[in-house]
Amino acid sequence: HVAVLRQLGHDACELRVPSELDGVDGVVLPGGESTTQLLLLAESGLGTALDTRIRAGLPVLATCAGLILAAREVQAPPQPSFAWLDVVVARNAWGRQVHSFEATADPDAAFGALPLVFIRAPRILATGPEVQVLARFQGEPVLVRQGRFYAATFHPELSGESRVHAAVFGRGLKVSRE
Ligand code: GLN
Repeated sequence: HVAVLRQLGHDACELRVPSELDGVDGVVLPGGESTTQLLLLAESGLGTALDTRIRAGLPVLATCAGLILAAREVQAPPQPSFAWLDVVVARNAWGRQVHSFEATADPDAAFGALPLVFIRAPRILATGPEVQVLARFQGEPVLVRQGRFYAATFHPELSGESRVHAAVFGRGLKVSRE
């Protein structure tokens, strides 16, 4: 994510403690293992700090485990979440790690032929009335938006392009140093 954001001209950094949130204009909640992420967010205090900023409208791109943290309800197995996004998700809903796969979004999606990398990906089972579906795969939502909160079941940072990050964060003002 940092590499893609830098390509777009943003001044991207990694966040691990609450004080690092001061002064940022947007946040990516990356993939990983959402159960572990919940523990780390609680231990570091970053969960509470993020909750305050996100509820105040901080732009967010949540991918995969990040989407699971953000969901209103998490199933299979159930797990606590922050309810930043009005969706119900099922974890690991395409199968185990070996069933991870690449695909292309349905052609009628807003992003055209968006490449999709799924890694032990969740599925979005239901979306609330404020949630807009931006891309689908086999008819199911894979990229959604609720206000300034965007979330993907796939990994847009791994497909060698930056359309999703650009849609969420725009382009930075920095230009090349040459
Ligand atoms: N399966 C992971 C989880 O449940 C998410 C996988 C990912 O982020 N690529 O948290």
